[in-house]
Amino acid sequence: MSEITLGIIGGGQLGSMLAIAAEKLNIKTVVFSDDIDAPAQNFCRQFVTGSYDNKEKISEFINQVDLVTFEFENIPFKTLNEINKLKPVLPKPSVNRLVQHRLAEKDFINKLNIRTTRYVSIEKKSDLDALEDFLPGILKTTTLGYDGKGQYPIKSINELSSLKIDFSKEYILEKLVKLKKEISIIITRFSNNKYEIYEPIENIHEDQILKYSKIPAEINEKIFNKSKDWAMLIAEELKYIGTLCVEFFIDRNDNLYVNEIAPRVHNSGHLTINAFNVSQFENHVRAVCGLEQIPLIKISNAKMMNLLGNQITHFRNMEKFNDNEYFFDYLKKEVKEKRKMGHITTLI
Ligand code: ADP
Ligand code: MG
Repeated sequence: MSEITLGIIGGGQLGSMLAIAAEKLNIKTVVFSDDIDAPAQNFCRQFVTGSYDNKEKISEFINQVDLVTFEFENIPFKTLNEINKLKPVLPKPSVNRLVQHRLAEKDFINKLNIRTTRYVSIEKKSDLDALEDFLPGILKTTTLGYDGKGQYPIKSINELSSLKIDFSKEYILEKLVKLKKEISIIITRFSNNKYEIYEPIENIHEDQILKYSKIPAEINEKIFNKSKDWAMLIAEELKYIGTLCVEFFIDRNDNLYVNEIAPRVHNSGHLTINAFNVSQFENHVRAVCGLEQIPLIKISNAKMMNLLGNQITHFRNMEKFNDNEYFFDYLKKEVKEKRKMGHITTLI
């Protein structure tokens, strides 16, 4: 029996699912979150709450664990770096720093000769004046965005004056891709050239928030292979350990672009819990804890639907689900509009 205790920073649904996967492998978990109501406290052995720069609370957390991982990327780099001096942090904090910043992330991807959307750095309002070429586009804060937060779609230069944009922040302007589809690749890297990679997952967003994911993705063979190759190249170049997600755009001419990298388990991979022999969460725990790598086997095709805000109520009240349906309630205390409250996976 293993004697490993894994620390997880972040206590949302991803933290919960990581803790559940770890406990199944007899790995104890301690979750650290700045949210006193964090749902992951229902699934871990110990729970520590405090802000992500609270030294005392961080010490209390790391004293109880052998190594540390995280469920989200927006953790102060300084915090991860300090922890890493005492207990190993995986994936390593430098990956996190790179991916936290949309410009650095896109520069890195382009250096690998992988296509991204066209983009330009915006530091002040006047930087936007001569950028007709990038419109229609989306202005995004370079850091701390998720689920479309901190994003402003801009159709034309004239529109700018009416938008209330806080220029004390740094932005990136991205040319809008005429989307045919979005897909993601989830890959777990164990060590040099040792991976488990899931097939491409097709994703549908509503209001920039993921709503549906499904396998198989309806894509051609070239995109199927290229998306996997690019994800492997990125994971290898980062010397990544653990589960990583690469989000892609496919335009109307079947060109593939990397949208962004998530250095963690990902919402689009929830269906891996039921559709594969090993889920993205279990694979993450196996990789960071140095456990055995098990070859992936697909059990079934599947589709997943996110339950946002009060969409959860109907499912909470259901008495019975079909045998091919798996309902997950994240046990969040407060129902908020568009908040991810749960999901349902259907094997098809
Ligand atoms: P987040 O960090 O919030 O996930 P993303 O950059 O992934 O931000 O944007 C969220 C969603 O918004 C994307 O999945 C896509 O649907 C849409 N989107 C973002 N950027 C573009 C773009 N340049 N062209 C077309 N759609 C975009
Ligand atoms: Mg995204």
